[in-house]
Amino acid sequence: MDEKHNFYNTFEDMATSHFQCFLCGENLNDKNVSKEHIIPKWVQNKFSLWNQTMVLPNQTTIKYKNLTVPCCKNCNNIILSQIENQFISAVETGIDAIRQLNELLIVQWIVKIKFALLFKNLVLKIDRTDPNSKTIVNDEVIKSFDITHTLLQTIRFPTNFIGPKPWSLFIYDIHDNDNTYYMGDYLESDLIYFQLGNIGLILVLLDCGINIDMFNDVYGIFSNQIIHEVQFREICAKIHYKQHTKIKEPYYTIRMPNENLQTMDFITTESYGNTFEGWSQETYAHFLHHHLRKWAIPYDELYHGGDLVSSYLKTDDGKFRIYRSSDPTDFYGI
Ligand SMILES: [Zn+2]
Repeated sequence: MDEKHNFYNTFEDMATSHFQCFLCGENLNDKNVSKEHIIPKWVQNKFSLWNQTMVLPNQTTIKYKNLTVPCCKNCNNIILSQIENQFISAVETGIDAIRQLNELLIVQWIVKIKFALLFKNLVLKIDRTDPNSKTIVNDEVIKSFDITHTLLQTIRFPTNFIGPKPWSLFIYDIHDNDNTYYMGDYLESDLIYFQLGNIGLILVLLDCGINIDMFNDVYGIFSNQIIHEVQFREICAKIHYKQHTKIKEPYYTIRMPNENLQTMDFITTESYGNTFEGWSQETYAHFLHHHLRKWAIPYDELYHGGDLVSSYLKTDDGKFRIYRSSDPTDFYGI
C-alpha cells in the first residue's frame, strides 16, 4: 500500500464527492466503502441524538443518524477507531482521564468532526448546485477547510510540530445533571466547542496557543473548579469575541510526507505586533447574548451601558462564583 506517499489534497482534486474517502481520498468501491458517522455513534447513544436534527452551516437540516461521510474501511476501522476508542475510554472514565490524554488526540477527535461537517457541507452544495460551478463555497469556508484538512492529516502521518503549538485547547469540568450535549462550530473564528455531559472542550485552531496563554492568566481559576454551564458558555463567548478581533494570522508552512520522508512537518510562525484589535464591551455583550441564548436572557440584562457587562464567572469582588442550582441567576454572594 502506498498511502504514506499520498498526501490527499482536496483542493487539487476537488475530491469532495460521495465516491472518495473523506480522510485519505481513496476511491471507494463495493469492497472498501463504509460510512463514518460525523457525530460518533457512541455520542449519539449517550446523548440520545439519533433522531434529533442538526443545522449545517449552509442551513441544511439533517438528522444526526444520517450525518455521515464516505470513508474507506481502512480509515474507518483502523485509523479512526484507534482515536475513537482512546477517547471513549477517557470519557467513560471521567474528566481526569480526559486531562491525561495526549492533547493531540483530543484535537484530532474534534478536528475530524469539524472537517467532516465541512466536507458534508461541500458535498451537499455540489449536489444542489451546478457541479461545474467554481463558486460553491465562500473564502471563509475554504480557509477553514484548508487549515482543518491539514490538521486532519496528522491522523494519518506522524507529525512534527515546529514552533508554537498551533492551537488552544481548553478542558473544563461542568456541573451537569441533564446529560447535556452541545456543539458550537464557528468557521470564521476557527473555534469549535463541545459539552459532552460534564466534559467541556473548547478548541481554537491556528492561534499559536495565544488564547490559552491569555485565558490561563485571567481565568486559570476555572480550570480547577467544577463550573456551571452558563460559566462555560461565557468563557466560549469571551474566546469567540477575542478571535473575532484578530487582525493578524500566524504563518504556517507544511512539509508534506514524500517517498523519502514519511512524516509531516507543521511549522508555525507567530506574526509580530498587535494580533488583536481593541476589545469593546458593548460588542462583546452581543457575543455573550448569543452564547447564553439557552437561558433567553435579554440583551439589556447583559449590557448595562459603558463598559458594564454582566458576568456569571466571578462575584463583584473577583471570587469564583458558586451556584446553588442550574438556574444561572441562583448563586451565592453578589
Ligand atoms: Zn481512507
